[in-house]
Amino acid sequence: MICTCEKCLYTFFLNSLPEACPDCGSPSVREATPEEKDWFYDLQREKQRNPLLLDRLPLRVG
Ligand SMILES: [Zn+2]
Repeated sequence: MICTCEKCLYTFFLNSLPEACPDCGSPSVREATPEEKDWFYDLQREKQRNPLLLDRLPLRVG
C-alpha cells in the first residue's frame, strides 16, 4: 500500500501501514488518498529520468 505521513508528507510504499514515519518518526501515517497515489505513481515515472527527486508531496497552493 501507499502511505503518506501527515507531518512531513513523505509518501512511500510498504506492505502495511507503519507505526511511525520512516523519515521523521511521526506516528501520523495514513494510507494515501487516490489523488496522492496518482501523484506517487507519476513521481516514480519521473524518477526514472531524474533520480534526485524527493518522495514528498508538493506544497499545496491555494
Ligand atoms: Zn514524516
